Amino acid sequence: MLPFKLVYHEAYDLNLGAHVFPSQKYRLISDHLSSEGIALPDDFLCPEPASDADILRVHTPEWVNKLKTGTLTPNDIMKLEVPYSPELVNAFWLAAGGTIVAAETASLDGFGCNIGGGFHHAYPGHGEGFCAIHDVAVAIRKMQAEGIIRKAMVVDTDVHQGNGTAAIFAHDPTVFTLSIHQWNNYPALKPPSTVDLNMDDRTSDAEYLAALLPAVREALDKFHPDMLFYIGGADPYKEDQLGGLSLTINGLKTRDQSVFEEGRQRGIPIVTTLAGGYARQVADTVHIHVNTILAAKAAAEKFPRARARP
Ligand SMILES: [Zn+2]
Repeated sequence: MLPFKLVYHEAYDLNLGAHVFPSQKYRLISDHLSSEGIALPDDFLCPEPASDADILRVHTPEWVNKLKTGTLTPNDIMKLEVPYSPELVNAFWLAAGGTIVAAETASLDGFGCNIGGGFHHAYPGHGEGFCAIHDVAVAIRKMQAEGIIRKAMVVDTDVHQGNGTAAIFAHDPTVFTLSIHQWNNYPALKPPSTVDLNMDDRTSDAEYLAALLPAVREALDKFHPDMLFYIGGADPYKEDQLGGLSLTINGLKTRDQSVFEEGRQRGIPIVTTLAGGYARQVADTVHIHVNTILAAKAAAEKFPRARARP
């Protein structure tokens, strides 16, 4: 039994077939957590799709309408880089619903883990880079609207800069955005986050952690968020097909656990989402994401419960 809930829905799988985005990873992670005895059936919660009202706190009515009616232009689909289908739209609404549930449970349990989400390239009015709906932003806006939190922090460790997150919260003093990513990689245009840590090609575990952890500590001590949203990309891994950093599987686990411990020892509830992972071997991507859950468990056991304080 885990000391927090895992949020998962079988329809997170986008059934993209041979696409570089291995959307079957959500099922593989969930299966691995169960078959290895890391999680029991009662540890899982199954989300509902987010409501349109929840989505519309972040996204424009025009973009929501295009997605719901299947009227994306060829340019919209080219930017999104995944083929359009009604199942795809349902999966994005479910991912947003999942991150909302993870945030709700984090406010009670100190941690909430969505086995999905982290779609940080979605903008209010368009999607790109496999991301149509910004689940983390949707969850932050809902938690704020319900008075569960006032201030949120996003720590984004995907190898690609969190451009959608940066754009959505650009002029919002209630949301602190920190992104650590490979400078020489997608997205070409990187709107400024509150803090951007631009890593050189082939950055090692030690160099990466030496940049990330002091920045996270300083941000937490200055900003005092009521909730920390962690976007745990598996793609800084040295064997990633879309990444150019040189982190190891152990380095990535240390990354996750170190960030979680910084949050937990300050009493801040933490919501985790998965984001990208395109390792040559899908099993490596699954291993890295499973390790994020194990890191959360270790941090939760090391530091006592944290609750949201609005
Ligand atoms: Zn990525």
